[in-house]
Amino acid sequence: MSRLLIMGAGGVANVAIHKCCQNSDVFTEICIASRTKSKCDAIAESLKGKTKTAITTAAIDAMDVPAVVRLIKDYKPDALLNLALPYQDLALMDACLEAGIDYIDTANYEPEDTDDPKWREIYEKRCKEKGFSAYFDYSWQWDYEEKFKKAGLTGLLGTGFDPGVTSVFAAYAKKHYFDSIDTIDILDCNGGSNGYAFATNFNPEVNLREVSAPGSYMEDGKWIEIPAMSIKREYNFAEVGPKDMYLLHHEEIEALGRNMPEVKRIRFFMTFGQSYLDHMRCLEDVGMLSTSPVMFEGREIVPIKFLKTLLPDPATLGPRTKGKTNIGCIFTGKKDGKKRSIYIYNVCDHEECYKEVGSQAVAYTTGVPAMIGAMMVVSGKWKKAGVFTTDEFDPDPYMEALNKWGLPWTVEENPVLVD
Ligand code: NDP
Repeated sequence: MSRLLIMGAGGVANVAIHKCCQNSDVFTEICIASRTKSKCDAIAESLKGKTKTAITTAAIDAMDVPAVVRLIKDYKPDALLNLALPYQDLALMDACLEAGIDYIDTANYEPEDTDDPKWREIYEKRCKEKGFSAYFDYSWQWDYEEKFKKAGLTGLLGTGFDPGVTSVFAAYAKKHYFDSIDTIDILDCNGGSNGYAFATNFNPEVNLREVSAPGSYMEDGKWIEIPAMSIKREYNFAEVGPKDMYLLHHEEIEALGRNMPEVKRIRFFMTFGQSYLDHMRCLEDVGMLSTSPVMFEGREIVPIKFLKTLLPDPATLGPRTKGKTNIGCIFTGKKDGKKRSIYIYNVCDHEECYKEVGSQAVAYTTGVPAMIGAMMVVSGKWKKAGVFTTDEFDPDPYMEALNKWGLPWTVEENPVLVD
């Protein structure tokens, strides 16, 4: 029995809300709050008569901390699930601290305007300290550790699929399959097609900022940074087939590198088709991925925000996306003195997801773990004071929940390794 406040009403939120409503024994009441209330109402309407969960909706600007605190005090939720954008993470953590409730999200903080001189200075200092230059990183939210500890509250960071499930896979491999892990390769394959020459599967602005950042991986405790998309491999994915994949910087490398320092190398690869890469390169070359405002016909516009208005809304891709995703981790290491390697992965079908909750598999594979993470916190299974990533708890109840709530996983011994 719990009451959850969900921020955001986009593609990922739609899935998480559907899943909370399938899980009414745990989520007896939810409030969907977002900037555009009509989107919250549309999701609530689509669930009318189909769930025992009581749903209310509210209009809110997540950056307005006093307004969020008022909403929390009024609605009295047990926790806040942030499915708005990473730019809002810190404001929402502040609101949770002030109102005294637990906080959960799926993506780590990044400043919205990275070209603003005020941010630029702080950001460049942080880049030097952390050793890589992607905009997004955990340092901002790890800085809340003491405040959450002191308040006796849980901050669960990054409970999507990647980050999220991939780090739970790592904790599970460590607990059940290895005495020591040497390498982790996280492979994210979207073998689906939506028929557009260029469209992103989740928020275009956040997605394009992520994939156009320099790539990086961790080796022997140090970051190695490479130009964006400069390391490419081919991998034959179960139920999808062979795909080109590229090494990217990603959140879980940072968290696993900190929490499992014995691992010698951690890398992250994501598949991209040639059409996506050609479009992205061209947009970058002409300045369309810039976050700096430019003057256009007498008014300021931010190129990447303007681009977002032109691209298909990821929440509308569901009915046109076909094919499957395959996301998982390959681990190598030792067990009982012998070398061992395993691959833990999930395969998800875009069309099946659409039939179930009206969203494609990228939103589904994020929204289901968001609901599971919230369930772990509100049920008390994952309840500690402080700020944590998903590899810092017992993985077993989360792994069980993945099987139950639509993301079953497979463990393969001796998989083909990535060179
Ligand atoms: P969308 O853009 O579809 O939805 C974002 C929602 O947040 C919208 O409803 C938007 O409102 C709302 N929002 C934005 N700004 C504010 C604000 N200031 N106040 C209140 N509401 C606001 O994004 P997605 O659903 O695709 O992604 C949601 C999150 O999931 C992102 O943080 C993304 O990074 C993360 N993600 C994580 C993954 C993982 O595996 N860990 C994978 C994919 C995504 P409006 O409708 O008015 O614009």
